[in-house]
Amino acid sequence: MSKKLDFSLEFFPPATTEGVEKLRGVRAELAALAPEFFSVTYGAGGSTRDRTLQVVREIRAAGLDAAPHLSCIGASQQSIREHLAEFREIGVRRIVALRGDLPSGMADPGEFRYANELVEFIRRESGDEFLIEVAAYPEMHPQARNFGADLKAFVRKVHAGANSAITQYFYNADAYFAFVDAVRRAGVEIPIVPGIMPIASYSKLSRFSESCGAEIPQWMRRKFESFGDDAESVRAFGLDAVSQLCERLIQGGAPSLHFYTLNQAGLTRELCRRAGLA
Ligand code: FAD
Repeated sequence: MSKKLDFSLEFFPPATTEGVEKLRGVRAELAALAPEFFSVTYGAGGSTRDRTLQVVREIRAAGLDAAPHLSCIGASQQSIREHLAEFREIGVRRIVALRGDLPSGMADPGEFRYANELVEFIRRESGDEFLIEVAAYPEMHPQARNFGADLKAFVRKVHAGANSAITQYFYNADAYFAFVDAVRRAGVEIPIVPGIMPIASYSKLSRFSESCGAEIPQWMRRKFESFGDDAESVRAFGLDAVSQLCERLIQGGAPSLHFYTLNQAGLTRELCRRAGLA
């Protein structure tokens, strides 16, 4: 029998006690699907520093693999060094290394300009101790000058020492395949794991996609818009569209899938079941 494809699940650190409690339940439910690891996002500028670490600690305490995200914008070398020491102490083996975006009102960009500098710093400080994941953008990062410049920036992160990449979410599988081809032509062989965004609310997705440069294809927009306030239809169509995307990605050779769970179990669990991952 062929081995089931690996997958990973992303959480964000809740801001309230109720959110923390709810996430414990979601984590237990999703842990039953046996993901390869859980990752936990980090508020750029350090705003979630303690909360990210707390969620990571709890995941590790439950005997599961947890990968903290770490962004470098606004950070000093010393603060990153302290993070690495904390990660070491709780047995973290994998880090998602990012630049992040400078929060509004924060003027000092700190000692790192781009994610490749963070990857280089982590390697310099800790050798091969951590597996390093970096971000990839099949539809291009919104601030990039053009595709070529963004590809070069990606390759720079790999040459700095990244082991693997997770993509921004997308709904057009061809954008992913074209990106992987371009990366391979540039001589880079690391796994590029598609980031999968389940769709619970079209209006929220639409707003978020504007800011992060992810495209919702026109045919999907038109469908969603035709449903109006009918949340059930949005959910059912979103599930069908995203599970077809997962199927195409798996058939096309994606090495693994990474789900942006938004701290909810239902849609991710159903997508994993339909994709034969659970
Ligand atoms: P970089 O790789 O540094 O790229 C940023 C931009 O700069 C790109 O446009 C790139 O083309 C350009 N660039 C890179 N190097 C150079 C250079 N030397 N000269 C000129 N231009 C250059 N954000 C958070 O705040 N917290 C999170 O936990 C988080 N998790 C994420 C997880 C994933 C899987 C993804 C895909 C994104 C995540 N983000 C997170 C968002 C991310 O921080 C933003 O997209 C941010 O704007 C870019 O981060 P990066 O690591 O991709 O930056």
